[in-house]
Amino acid sequence: MDRSIVGKLADAGYLGAVLPSEHGGTGLDAISYSLIAEELGRADSSVRGIVSVSNGLVGKTLVKWGTVEQQAERLPALCAGEALGCYALTEPGSGSDPASLVTRAERAGADWSIGGSKLFITLGTWAAFALVFARTGGDGARGITCFLVPTDAPGFSAAPVKGKLGLRAQDTGELFLDGVRVPDAARLGAEGEGFKVAMSALDAGRVSLAAGCVGIAQGCLDACVDYARERRQFGRAIGSFQLVQELLADIAVETDAARLLTWRAAALADAGRPYTLEASVAKYYASEASVRASNAAVQIHGGYGYVDEYPVGKYLRDARVTTLYEGTSQIQKLIVGRALTGESAFV
Ligand SMILES: Cc1cc2nc3c(=O)[nH]c(=O)nc-3n(C[C@H](O)[C@H](O)[C@H](O)COP(=O)(O)OP(=O)(O)OC[C@H]3O[C@@H](n4cnc5c(N)ncnc54)[C@H](O)[C@@H]3O)c2cc1C
Repeated sequence: MDRSIVGKLADAGYLGAVLPSEHGGTGLDAISYSLIAEELGRADSSVRGIVSVSNGLVGKTLVKWGTVEQQAERLPALCAGEALGCYALTEPGSGSDPASLVTRAERAGADWSIGGSKLFITLGTWAAFALVFARTGGDGARGITCFLVPTDAPGFSAAPVKGKLGLRAQDTGELFLDGVRVPDAARLGAEGEGFKVAMSALDAGRVSLAAGCVGIAQGCLDACVDYARERRQFGRAIGSFQLVQELLADIAVETDAARLLTWRAAALADAGRPYTLEASVAKYYASEASVRASNAAVQIHGGYGYVDEYPVGKYLRDARVTTLYEGTSQIQKLIVGRALTGESAFV
């Protein structure tokens, strides 16, 4: 990816779309932001990811949990595209179960010394700072604390993750922390509150991810309708065949449903009401719908769908990760199941 896109996203007001204007953000509501994420998802999911990480995982987390000094130092530069951030929760041994993470932060005089590694971190090699979740106490969720770590700190290094199925333009990194020292003022939230910080970030992240998936599905539909009208077999446009129309209809209906679920979650966020469950429902449905839509889109395009001449192959590659990151589909179902039964499958 040409990195000058970051400045253009900042100029358009996208990097801080939902962040408050006093911090350099655009101050949009969640519905408006969903429209941006949808259009970016339709255009390119790698770019959409930069905007989602900046607004949700990093920006809103700083707004909610950051100190006045952290916000003043980081948010205007983030919104201006001068210093991006990343959200570093996942580790080689802990993904769906982040409460088992092993990166450790120890007190070192007035400072903290952090050691460990993080994997699959979006913008991991581009970011100027990372929100690093590290164990400061005993096992489990309560032993985790979040730190704001400058990526140029001594002992911090990052390497790109190569060979991804999709999101090929996007930076995904592995982070290594070898005795990285940060002051106590780098803590985000209280000691032991890191898991809460991490989970609060995911609500907002999941809504914009769902919106990005709606964009993928809509992009597939648009490409397929055009193609089905123009491609002829058996002397007729393939769009006149009922089996092709069935594929188109399924994409159209699921795209609408995904969009409405996304907007419901966004509307709740705008109303200041809890939306954890609705964000999970939207993320689960929209991500799975985007995979089905892009798979059907390749089918409608036949062999042409398998090569780069049309956008649908890329949609399929980019859609595939959306049922994995920010909580897999299985994890979303367990969140829904917990809400329905009052029983948590996680403990
Ligand atoms: C391109 C990309 C970008 C990413 N960006 C970030 C980022 O910016 N920051 C970050 O912190 N992380 C990021 N991730 C990591 C992502 O969030 C994790 O990959 C994801 O949470 C899944 O974890 P895992 O890969 O370890 O899979 P695992 O947790 O090992 O899961 C493997 C399989 O087991 C299933 N499974 C696990 N537990 C259960 C259960 N209790 N019940 C039923 N099934 C279960 C899962 O659903 C999955 O099918 C990114 C990943 C990718 C690929």
